[in-house]
Amino acid sequence: MVVGLEVHVQLKTRTKAFCGCSTDFGAPPNVNTCPVCLALPGALPVLNERAVQLAVRAALGLGCAVNPVSVFARKNYFYPDLPKGYQISQFDQPLATGGAIVVGQTEDGKAVQIGITRLHMEEDAGKSIHDRYPGSTAIDLNRSGVPLIEIVSEPDIQSSAQAGAYLRTLKQILQYLDVSDVSMEEGSLRVDANISVRPPGQTKLGTKTEVKNMNSFSAVERALEAEYARQCALLDSGGKVEQQTLLWDGARESVRPSRTKEGSHDYRYFPEPDLRPLLLDQGWINDARKNLPELPEARRTRLTQELGIAAAEIDQLMATPALVEYFESVARASRDPKAAFNWVMGEVSAALRVSGEEIDRFRVRPADLAQLITLVKDGTISHTAAKRVFALMVETGKPAAQIAADEGLAQVGDDGALAGWVDEVLQEHPDEAKRYLAGEKKLQGVLVGFVMKKSKGRADPRRVNQLLSSRGG
Ligand SMILES: [Zn+2]
Repeated sequence: MVVGLEVHVQLKTRTKAFCGCSTDFGAPPNVNTCPVCLALPGALPVLNERAVQLAVRAALGLGCAVNPVSVFARKNYFYPDLPKGYQISQFDQPLATGGAIVVGQTEDGKAVQIGITRLHMEEDAGKSIHDRYPGSTAIDLNRSGVPLIEIVSEPDIQSSAQAGAYLRTLKQILQYLDVSDVSMEEGSLRVDANISVRPPGQTKLGTKTEVKNMNSFSAVERALEAEYARQCALLDSGGKVEQQTLLWDGARESVRPSRTKEGSHDYRYFPEPDLRPLLLDQGWINDARKNLPELPEARRTRLTQELGIAAAEIDQLMATPALVEYFESVARASRDPKAAFNWVMGEVSAALRVSGEEIDRFRVRPADLAQLITLVKDGTISHTAAKRVFALMVETGKPAAQIAADEGLAQVGDDGALAGWVDEVLQEHPDEAKRYLAGEKKLQGVLVGFVMKKSKGRADPRRVNQLLSSRGG
């Protein structure tokens, strides 16, 4: 299998690529439009500087060389949702070329790298809505002119799993660069795949087809498998692969030819006369490179080395940049990375799932959670009590120490009180008590649990264990 992917990514700007219209997702149809993005006669485009900054940041983060001179070009085609009759894109002089990303490791530990041919800027088209009004197609031009980058990979991808790994890695890098929302559901990340097959050992590429209309990474993987099987069967039976555009049909788990013959388009590219070439100062490009945020790969390596957390655990934390940021702050402030990991992946994630909040809005700030971890570590409160304190921190926003004091949750290590609870528990559970005292050691944990419950989490479990052991058993 030989695959190259074209990924369209919407840049996170407030306004469109060539006019001041809002890029808000979900606005009523055709509200975010003006003479420029409606293509009214005489309207002229003005390049959005922020879009250039974000596109350059993406290019540098993907290891591309940013070209000091790039040229916008008209890509001409007719489509009802393309009011100008052309899309402003870049053609023979793109913004950036020649990058690569590491998507995994071979069995002998070598990095698997997928090359990036080019990254260029372009604008989005509008949207045709075919199914809402019977017999009619509606047009929404809110999206017309929204800034995109197109990232074209080399045909280095050799399996559907590798395509998935490439997409997930790419998405994570773009997330950490903070250049896009990278949401396939909202259409801010879209993937087209070029695929061909060839027998092992053959260097010449086979005829490729282009597969579109995949709405998730797993759909991309399934579409590639289906198209791979189709092409192999065709060649095995002595047939030929025809160059064409195919649409993935998720319901049928198969591809079908697109009604429009997109493969045969002649786009008649020529330089956009209304925009001058984009000239970028080398010093400005260098500054942008210096100001790149820490990328996922570097962060993963640094955190495993500095905090001694396993790579697999770091990967869980890296799901979003904000989560790993939060974790790192807690780990550093508490000086207990292991406890920080357990709290963030456990109680914190559970609380966020319940409230539906994002972690950067979460009420319990890293310093507060670090204080709670410290209270457990120095024996002020038990781990059981800490969970109660945490719940109240989420509810009230008060600091851990104050809640522990207010609720009387400070740990009890005083032997008198502890022995009293132990006695009560042994009386209340005569069966377990008898078996334990007769030598059934594994019941000790159960009995400690009863004491913890009786003390409302205040008993010092370490001391309770010692007291129970000293009773024999
Ligand atoms: Zn506009």
